[in-house]
Amino acid sequence: MSKHCKAGGQGSLWIKAAGLALVLSFLTAEAQGVGETRVARWKGDVTAAFLLLFDDSWPSHFQVAAPALAERGLTGTFYINPGKGEYRAFSNQWEHTVWKMGMVYGNHTYAHESVTNAAQAEQVIKACNDEILRMVPGRVPRLLSYGQPGVKEWLVSSNDLQAILAKHNLVDRPPFKDHGAVYHWQTTAQMLALADRAIDSQGLEYLIVHGVERIKPEWKYQDFWALKQAVFFPLLDGLKERRDQGKLWITDPVSAHKYETERASAKVTVLGATRQEIRLTLTCDADLRLYDEPLTLVTRVPEDWRSCDLKRTGTNLTLAVSQGHVRYDAVPDGQPLTLRRLD
Ligand SMILES: [Zn+2]
Repeated sequence: MSKHCKAGGQGSLWIKAAGLALVLSFLTAEAQGVGETRVARWKGDVTAAFLLLFDDSWPSHFQVAAPALAERGLTGTFYINPGKGEYRAFSNQWEHTVWKMGMVYGNHTYAHESVTNAAQAEQVIKACNDEILRMVPGRVPRLLSYGQPGVKEWLVSSNDLQAILAKHNLVDRPPFKDHGAVYHWQTTAQMLALADRAIDSQGLEYLIVHGVERIKPEWKYQDFWALKQAVFFPLLDGLKERRDQGKLWITDPVSAHKYETERASAKVTVLGATRQEIRLTLTCDADLRLYDEPLTLVTRVPEDWRSCDLKRTGTNLTLAVSQGHVRYDAVPDGQPLTLRRLD
């Protein structure tokens, strides 16, 4: 009897001690800032973002530009016109090849033609959207990038255009002004200066390209405003170098727009932090049906962690600890995220 009581006494003492250890672990963890999490300014916690945009569905896009981008692991956004002659002659390439190389399609209207009223504008914009959504698998609805074509007549008020873009889940891209290859900038150095400007301001910059010089296959003519290969390839090499140095996120306008929009209202809530485990959630105010870009989080972990598990519904990743922090991507959907120490 006394033996039993004694055992019980020891047991409850042990529970108290374990409870105290847990509280202490929580308190010391908290005191060390464990669990403190920031949302990185850009994906991957790099310094800046850069967009490479190509207009008008020129043949040199699939002949030269897309392969050169893919070779370097870069992406470009191609503003296509599915009803334009140059596109139709090579629709197979756009349909089956270019997007599979990791390239993104933007809406540049159906055939790059003038419109005389808002109804007509909606028609040519919707027709291009329909083609992109049909060709490229993904969620419907989803956001696409819109690039206003430079046409002779565009008789649509800015209010009407904004309403059309909103209705069709289109995000207007930044303007051509001061960002046109060949038109505004001729040398690799000038174009890389745009990228360095983004890095200096920790912001976003972009370049809009039309044709790219074609050497093979040898044609009798070059595409519109063809950018020399001797300028274009070193430009891509320079961008890749900055990407590899962790300075640039080279992405498409919609991914950058989603990231910035979600980040603006992102909120991290730490549900619990001990020396063994950190639990948190990430939320934002944007509509999750359209805004599904993972944000990069950087969380402080206890000093003695060398690696940890990241668990969330459907995923289980191992993360390396660097200087007391772990970096990982998460969609801001409010699902619990658990970081657990690995020994
Ligand atoms: Zn155009």
